[in-house]
Amino acid sequence: MCRALYPGTFDPIHFGHMDIAIRSATIFDELVVGVYDRPSKNLLFTLEERVELAREALRDYPNIRVLPYGGLTAEFARQIGAKVIVRGLRVVSDFEWEYQMSLTNRQLAPEVEFVCLMTRQEYTFLSASILKEVALLGGDVTMWAPPNVVAALARKREALQHQQVLVPLVSLRD
Ligand code: ADP
Repeated sequence: MCRALYPGTFDPIHFGHMDIAIRSATIFDELVVGVYDRPSKNLLFTLEERVELAREALRDYPNIRVLPYGGLTAEFARQIGAKVIVRGLRVVSDFEWEYQMSLTNRQLAPEVEFVCLMTRQEYTFLSASILKEVALLGGDVTMWAPPNVVAALARKREALQHQQVLVPLVSLRD
């Protein structure tokens, strides 16, 4: 049995994330999507919301589970018995970051392998930051995220309408 961990912020989950998760679930016996509790990023959704959105989005895949976690990713991989950490790669700048993280994690948990899957061409540009910015400005995001996420973004937009809370669009990495 080979269990893999796909860790990330998933704020919120979108088709680029889902593509990596679904393809991983065909390679490994079981995939745990690990939703990191407190990344050093501006978050739009709470941990509970991010977990719930990912669960709903991936509910049709019986060998994918979504779990929240905190602390070191390498430690969480150990705790759940994952032999592999999966990440997605979009652009070259992703590679530099993922490479650094993989070497760090190897020092922390040498028994856990690190695998990167290339994004599909149509999702190369897609990031949660772009999704959030376009959605909060009222743009159509139905081609980038599943219906439950599109609806959640619309609700956030409604709730934040009077607050000028926008996630700044800075780069493809988020
Ligand atoms: P993190 O804060 O750990 O980068 P993210 O939620 O931003 O968390 O991303 C989780 C993983 O999904 C990362 O490996 C990231 O590179 C990957 N990812 C993000 N967007 C895409 C996309 N459009 N296509 C493929 N992989 C993606």
